[in-house]
Amino acid sequence: MIDVPADARLMSFGYKKIFIPQRTRCCKIHLSANDFTEEAFGLLQPSSNCSDMSGLEVEELLTYMQEFRHQVCRKIQNLIDNH
Ligand SMILES: [Zn+2]
Repeated sequence: MIDVPADARLMSFGYKKIFIPQRTRCCKIHLSANDFTEEAFGLLQPSSNCSDMSGLEVEELLTYMQEFRHQVCRKIQNLIDNH
């Protein structure tokens, strides 16, 4: 078992609204590079409706959401420009 990488934790939050706390462990076969395998990602389910979040985790998620928003804004701007 290894710690779930930060990228995989952020992806699960961004795409599935599932928060995975730091230091959560997972089997190696469910990960490829810094991400979950497609199959493991599809099977991901929340195990609880609440969780403690450290200040660092809140900061990490906010930074990620900001970047996510910038990406979406850029995509929309591109669509407008190419119209
Ligand atoms: Zn696993």
